[in-house]
Amino acid sequence: MTESEEPRIGVFVCHCGHNIAGTVDVERVAKVAATFPHVVFSTDEMFMCSDSGQQLIRDKIKEHGLNRVVVASCSPRMHEPTFRRVVEEGGLNRYLYEQVNLREHVSWCHMHEPEAATEKAIDLVRMSVARAARLESIPVKTVQVTPRALVVGGGIAGLRAALDIADRGFEVVLVEKRPQLGGHVIHWTHMFPADRSGREVVSPMIDEVMDHDLITVYTDSKVTALDGYIGNFDITIKSNKTGEEHKVKVGAVIVATGFEPFKPIGYYAYEDSPDIMTLAELQEMPPSDELLRPSDGKPAKKLAFIGCVGSREPGVKGHEHCSRYCCSAVAKAASDLKDRVDEVVVLYQDVRTYGRGHEEIHRLAREKRVIFSKYNPDERPEVWVKRGKITMRWRDVLADDLLEFKPDILVLASAMVPPEDVEEIAKIFSLTRSSDGFFNPEHIKLAPLTTHTAGIMIAGVAQAAKNASETVVDASGAAAKAAALLARGEVEIESTVASVNPDVCSSCHTCITACPYGAMSIDESHDPPVAHVTEAKCHGCGTCAAGCPSGAITMLHSTDDQILSMVEALLMPAQMSGGEAR
Ligand code: SF4
Ligand code: SF4
Repeated sequence: MTESEEPRIGVFVCHCGHNIAGTVDVERVAKVAATFPHVVFSTDEMFMCSDSGQQLIRDKIKEHGLNRVVVASCSPRMHEPTFRRVVEEGGLNRYLYEQVNLREHVSWCHMHEPEAATEKAIDLVRMSVARAARLESIPVKTVQVTPRALVVGGGIAGLRAALDIADRGFEVVLVEKRPQLGGHVIHWTHMFPADRSGREVVSPMIDEVMDHDLITVYTDSKVTALDGYIGNFDITIKSNKTGEEHKVKVGAVIVATGFEPFKPIGYYAYEDSPDIMTLAELQEMPPSDELLRPSDGKPAKKLAFIGCVGSREPGVKGHEHCSRYCCSAVAKAASDLKDRVDEVVVLYQDVRTYGRGHEEIHRLAREKRVIFSKYNPDERPEVWVKRGKITMRWRDVLADDLLEFKPDILVLASAMVPPEDVEEIAKIFSLTRSSDGFFNPEHIKLAPLTTHTAGIMIAGVAQAAKNASETVVDASGAAAKAAALLARGEVEIESTVASVNPDVCSSCHTCITACPYGAMSIDESHDPPVAHVTEAKCHGCGTCAAGCPSGAITMLHSTDDQILSMVEALLMPAQMSGGEAR
């Protein structure tokens, strides 16, 4: 059965339990769909994605000689891959399948208007049937995968990811911009919830990485260029010291470039005294029996912390996020240091000790008589330094009292922000950034470790502020995805890409400038030279097709004909329904 024959379309309308059928009259939708041109079978079913629903599609393809399938159910994001597989199992090309979203686009957003929702559902199914009649088979293409991974960043996330991939038997190239591995964590004296220093946590990992036969480490180096596509990335690594360049080919990339602690210039008199420091700077102080004041080396007796410094600041670009580690880190440091000083005061907006074992740290700090005082973010604490002495004044929200404290040392729990070179990294790896400046995943819930560039993963704080345990979980997840890709040997690439008609292309270069993924180039071997699409790099976004002044570019699976047929079906329903649609 091929698409060049007369279309024979099957329509399957899903109840999704009560999700769709609770609002939309699915039986009516299926009945009306049966009257649309080329529809030879139409039905409704409780759960199309269930085993019995899938079997129904396979059976009806055979029974009715269907050569196109339309499923009216949930978001294609959720089940398009499922139903594409089902139609393939039924003997059809996967691109002869069309999905209508009756759940997110209809029942969930019109749940108080069942009749109008049913009419909208009929309209959408009519449009998809019109498009389905014009769908064409597209061959599924594959590319070979180079069984080697690149990990960018030698902090705790990069180390974990490199070890996980190498332990599965694949080569790893690890690139770190600093002269040594270990990131920020190696400098921290106390980590929570385990009572160990950062060095104790990461040193064994560094040793393992350095000794691993399958891991090549480039420190004091940067990735300066990336070319290619999933399975076949050409990477250029440049030494910061010597300028020497190394070229490597890898199949997968994990970006684990971490964060920088925010320097709170202009906050709470930070620049006015060496005794006002960030939490990161406190963590990096050399261990001693007493807490020594940096200004004169004398033992500190009074200590204060202020939380959310540079975090959770609506209106300040890039600093609206909660940094997610500071509440627990402050509670841990305050609790530990209370054994060495007389008084510890913590000023907080909220206490968010949400991780496993973190609330216990907070409770211990309170038991040790650390004083927690809530301030109002609209009326921030005042801090000033006079003759080297620090004074803090703030209103305690719970007691509604104006309080004053003169700490020997003031610690500012400052935000995690993206590293300085984040924009450069984003450009090299074609990553987009969210409003907090960190890299966007492909989907915040459904694909948090992959990116819009196939084969490139993100792990740890590269994606968003988080604590070390969460970072390690991410790293192992990204490593599992990378290893799964490398193990496949070859990988399918998206077939819904741009296609250039060389007879029409005027070689104007518009598409080359327009393509955000570098997928367009000029094929100089063609006479005359014309635009050429590197299909493995193409995301099918359509930017080039929209920009091409000659109309030389067709988007496979979204041709003008297919899109216009949907518009016609919406505007001229009577021609499509035999008058029964309304
Ligand atoms: Fe050819 Fe169109 Fe690209 Fe211009 S924009 S080079 S005409 S494909
Ligand atoms: Fe580039 Fe998008 Fe055109 Fe593909 S469809 S070549 S990604 S502009």
